Amino acid sequence: MKNEFHRDTWIEVDLDAIQYNISQLAGQLKQDTVIMAVVKANAYGHGYLEVAEAALEAGAEWLAVAFLDEALFLRKHGFTAPILVLGAARPDDAGLAAAHGIRLTVFSADWIRSAREFLEADVLHIHLKIDTGMGRLGFTDQNGLADAEAFASDDSLINIEGAFTHFATADEPDRTYADQQHERFLEFLDVFQQKPPMIHASNSAGAFLRDNSAFNAVRFGISMYGLVPSGDIRHEMPAPLKPALSMYTKMVQVKKLKQGEKVSYGATYTAGQDEWIATLPIGYADGWIRQMQGFEVLAGEHRAEIIGRVCMDQCMIRLPFEMQEGSVVTLVGEVLNDRILLDDIAAHNGTIHYESACLLTARVPRMYR
Ligand code: PLP
Repeated sequence: MKNEFHRDTWIEVDLDAIQYNISQLAGQLKQDTVIMAVVKANAYGHGYLEVAEAALEAGAEWLAVAFLDEALFLRKHGFTAPILVLGAARPDDAGLAAAHGIRLTVFSADWIRSAREFLEADVLHIHLKIDTGMGRLGFTDQNGLADAEAFASDDSLINIEGAFTHFATADEPDRTYADQQHERFLEFLDVFQQKPPMIHASNSAGAFLRDNSAFNAVRFGISMYGLVPSGDIRHEMPAPLKPALSMYTKMVQVKKLKQGEKVSYGATYTAGQDEWIATLPIGYADGWIRQMQGFEVLAGEHRAEIIGRVCMDQCMIRLPFEMQEGSVVTLVGEVLNDRILLDDIAAHNGTIHYESACLLTARVPRMYR
């Protein structure tokens, strides 16, 4: 493991876990289903390049990101695998995407008409996104889809390579709404004069829990990182996953507070008795947000509460007893029989683990093993 940083807070990403999670998914899918590794948002905070490399090595054949800039970043770093941009791209960037073999998501015939003006030599491969109930990006009427196909199929510089949709509730135990989306998607697919070669609908939850036999690709995000899409379906997941991310820091100062002494901005915490506290070099600029106050981390193997306000770069914990400066504190990860999951952080902050992972900023060094 490389160690080329100079601060005592770091994230460890277990690339073997990522590869294990991909193999778990592959075991559930029908043969020849393409796995797209979703590495947008710095691979959900885990690191674009390392995760993309590990995922491709483990059998993912495609990469997916949200924005063209992310795809260009991967190309710049030598990734030659097909990359799908899941979000909207500007029509005037169509030529740039085509030149790099980057696939764009398209959701209106007008977009194609505008983009066509920016294509000169390279073919632009597009995936038509159908909004079957997510209410986000996508064709909402079949005529629009037919129009897009008619325009594109007459043009040698535009190739409709895929069609896809996105489930709004695949991570909920009640399948009704996702089933309706599924049906709606099949109806839209019937509109095509010629079905695109790649048809995909499922995210992680859908990939594990739904019948994907009508499709030949899945977009695998959160569970590639070892996280169950939502607690509500935890018991339904057909295969165990390994969380890939853990995070640690070290106590940079340990001191005794006398009863009545205060901690941090606003002096909102008052020591109820003489007590030991440690200062940790992590704060909200690292994504360790102010709401983390009151959360418990593992000082060595002991639970320790974050007290007082979390600062931009530091926060304080109350120790059960005096500990050595330099002692390791586990922020996310396992120690003996105890563990802290990104899910726990999310629950504490009233959000989801997707957000908690993405919030961890680039300032926190990542180490890979
Ligand atoms: N497909 C699309 C269009 C997405 O927006 C996302 C993630 O937000 C994914 C797939 C991956 O979803 P998940 O992380 O739940 O696997």
